[in-house]
Amino acid sequence: MHTAAVEAFIGIGANLGNASAAVFEAIQGLKRIPNTRVCAHSSFYQSAPIDSTGPDYINAVVRVATLLCAPDLLIHLQSLEISAGRERPFPNAPRTLDLDLLLYGSATISSDRLNVPHPRMWQRAFVVVPLAELNPALVPSQVLLGVQQQVIRKI
Ligand code: AMP
Repeated sequence: MHTAAVEAFIGIGANLGNASAAVFEAIQGLKRIPNTRVCAHSSFYQSAPIDSTGPDYINAVVRVATLLCAPDLLIHLQSLEISAGRERPFPNAPRTLDLDLLLYGSATISSDRLNVPHPRMWQRAFVVVPLAELNPALVPSQVLLGVQQQVIRKI
């Protein structure tokens, strides 16, 4: 546990059932993580699946201030995924709820269970567009240019 809060960004995605409701519920769930405060969330966005199948995704990014270490924060994210009824019949299957730890302060983490910054985040419009909405300084303009072909719509 840290003594000073760390600013972290969490990506939310859902594409099964009532996906907007799942994203909303996920934000409520993030508010219940101990020693963690939800500071802001982006608009909700609709995006076509990438490396996945099924209906369009609803995505959002949340900024939190947390006293938890990154692995403990990830454990809470995974238990929220499980309580949302996520099943993993095959890799990249459609999911009720996907929570990714995108950034944890300025930390770089490479372990079996956790890679931060999230390895594919800079290639994904559904991450960088809502992240730029929360903090434009975190997203270089070349990154936004690189994803501009991907269809994403603010809802
Ligand atoms: P996914 O199917 O995309 O939710 O991937 C889940 C797996 O990715 C889990 O086994 C996590 O341990 C691992 N993982 C590695 N880095 C991260 C991260 N930054 N955020 C969330 N899951 C991660």
